[in-house]
Amino acid sequence: MAQCDKALDVQTSQRLENPADTILIVEDNELNMKLFHDLLAAHGYKVLQAFDGQAGLQLAQQHHPDLIIMDVQLPGNLSGLEVTQVIKDDPKLKEIPVIAVTAFAMKGDEVKVRAAGCDGYITKPISALNFLQSIKKFLNERSSVSEGRRVL
Ligand code: MN
Repeated sequence: MAQCDKALDVQTSQRLENPADTILIVEDNELNMKLFHDLLAAHGYKVLQAFDGQAGLQLAQQHHPDLIIMDVQLPGNLSGLEVTQVIKDDPKLKEIPVIAVTAFAMKGDEVKVRAAGCDGYITKPISALNFLQSIKKFLNERSSVSEGRRVL
């Protein structure tokens, strides 16, 4: 154990103690998707990918991920906020933390993101460190807090 840990940074070794956390990414932009995927996969998460809201909803229902990263602006007839509302209205899915990804952080957007039921949000451009810290924070809160707590 100690030998293995030498090669890993603290964040990675903590992550590997609970390697089964599954994160669903709903994101239509291929570069952002690759960035999210690579960061999460490198830190030991299982990653599911959806490029539109309909596919995202299906994967959420089928796999019940531990956390969902939800781009707000998606192609097709389901926006990220609409998908979030469906998830938060579903008793089987509503406990899953949803982190919205927004292109800009304006006051009105925060209100909309909160109203849709998102548990938090991150803004583009993405900082890798902040992104991973947000993910960890929400996963830890989910496992230590039984009642859904809103953090925005
Ligand atoms: Mn988008």
